[in-house]
Amino acid sequence: MLAATMCGFISIFGPDGTDVVQDVLNGLLAIQHRGQDAAGVVTFGEKFEAKKGLGLVREVFEEKHLHRLRGPLAVGHVRYPTVGVGSDTDVQPFWLDFPVGVAMAHNGNVTNFLELKRRYFPQRGIYLNSNCDLEAVLYVFAAELMKRPRQGIGPEDVREAVAEVFRMVKGSYSVVGIVSGQGMFAFRDPFGIKPIIVGQKQTPEGTWFAVASESVVLDVAGYEILRDLRAGEMLWIGKDRKLHTVQVGGEPHRPCIFEYVYFARPDSTLDGVSVYQARLRLGERMGRSWQATGLDVDVVIPVPESARTAAQAMAETMGVPYREGFVKNRYVGRTFIMPSDKKRRDSVRQKLNPIRIEFEGKRVLILDDSIVRGHTSRQIVKIARQMGAKKVYLASYSPPLLYPCPYGIDMSTQREFIARGRTVEEVGKEIGADHLLFQDIDDMVEAVRGSERRDLVFCKACFEGSYPTGDVTEEMLRDIEQERLAAAKTE
Ligand code: SF4
Repeated sequence: MLAATMCGFISIFGPDGTDVVQDVLNGLLAIQHRGQDAAGVVTFGEKFEAKKGLGLVREVFEEKHLHRLRGPLAVGHVRYPTVGVGSDTDVQPFWLDFPVGVAMAHNGNVTNFLELKRRYFPQRGIYLNSNCDLEAVLYVFAAELMKRPRQGIGPEDVREAVAEVFRMVKGSYSVVGIVSGQGMFAFRDPFGIKPIIVGQKQTPEGTWFAVASESVVLDVAGYEILRDLRAGEMLWIGKDRKLHTVQVGGEPHRPCIFEYVYFARPDSTLDGVSVYQARLRLGERMGRSWQATGLDVDVVIPVPESARTAAQAMAETMGVPYREGFVKNRYVGRTFIMPSDKKRRDSVRQKLNPIRIEFEGKRVLILDDSIVRGHTSRQIVKIARQMGAKKVYLASYSPPLLYPCPYGIDMSTQREFIARGRTVEEVGKEIGADHLLFQDIDDMVEAVRGSERRDLVFCKACFEGSYPTGDVTEEMLRDIEQERLAAAKTE
């Protein structure tokens, strides 16, 4: 199970006279899986109003807040911290009232954030308040927009501001935001690593536009999906209520393959590929690979929730029963969400309770989405043995994770990857499994592409170490790690 996560966002521009906050909250509930650490909403009616806090959406927002969060423009965010760990000053969205009113939220990670924070901004007399990399994007964007007329901002003004962000800010970032009283913008970094999708709906009051980090957000809030933003593309909807899109950057598109493996909800479609179908195909390929081992199994059991879809397809391919051997307690956070290792270790048993009858006397094959540190896998294997399994086999429908992700996934340090410097057999032994199988990297890519998007080339740097943005250095990875460790100590 992957010990990492990302963030989720939604931004809405409704017709004049409407309040969009309810749609924003519905959207945030639909992407709660992307971050359970904090949530926030900023609206613009007459002025910016905000409500932000640590916790789940349902914990942060109460009915009384809705009376204040008025207006047709809003942006909302759910967070798991990547750079900027766990403090309430880092809860998004961020906004500036002056020199130009801009509110913003993002998903991703700015790889040169520390460089910008320590050198670029201080040289210009700006000292960032938070440890959140979004603040760097916000300042660069707003400073460029400030050079333009404050009334009547148009797509060309936003294009210039986004171009400046692309020049200054490296890494991965899908961004949504609003300009006070003027409109809504969004952009996707030049490599398009993080997902971002646009939709609209018609009501008697007029057209509502929404931009979100997953299609499911638009589905549940009743929006028709228009399309994903392309890598390096920006969007602006101003007072004319027309959708303007402009291609600003021109790098090759490298969407994160881990979105399909783990992060995204199965009912989302990202860059034209259904996450659900991608997971079915990942499972089918695993089924065929397992058959090649010649090891007989009595039952395939998923580690819920993310491995369910792939495990069903794997079992079907192998002609073996699929069984729910673990019951997940939904009210304990996803293990990876917990910032410290101790909490993560302690929570596995609380979170996954086994059903003895599915293990007792059987050769069980347990399928997970990935193996990072191996703590969860080790405990799962142990639990299966305690339940009387005759053989405990383990499979991961993604390849071994070996390299840290600098693009917003807190996989932490290289030392922590259990597969680093070990053969598959050695990892299996460490975990205590009778046999361990990882997905082949080419099979993973083929499975995710399917027949839907043969042209897609993914970021898969965490498996093979080749970072698409080309600017990731050992020093940068060390810096990010140090920053995370330092911030974790202050929690
Ligand atoms: S390094 Fe891995 S997790 Fe990070 S963006 Fe690339 S594929 Fe996704």
